[in-house]
Amino acid sequence: MSIIGTVREVLQASTQSTNRGDVTDEESKGAYWCDDCGERVRDVDVEGEAPPDCPTCGDEMRFERSTGTTGCAC
Ligand SMILES: [Zn+2]
Repeated sequence: MSIIGTVREVLQASTQSTNRGDVTDEESKGAYWCDDCGERVRDVDVEGEAPPDCPTCGDEMRFERSTGTTGCAC
């Protein structure tokens, strides 16, 4: 019984991780910044590999978590 339960959990976990990319909510966990240019790209706007390159200078951008302007910190 415990083995079946474990397998089921694994299957659910893999299914959830597979579906996660399809979720299109706009909940941003932070943004990518280029300190030199002041460029900012929200993490939800990044397509493909992260971190993205700065559109202005091409340097790798730095991720900065949202400081809780929306929602609570807990
Ligand atoms: Zn830049």
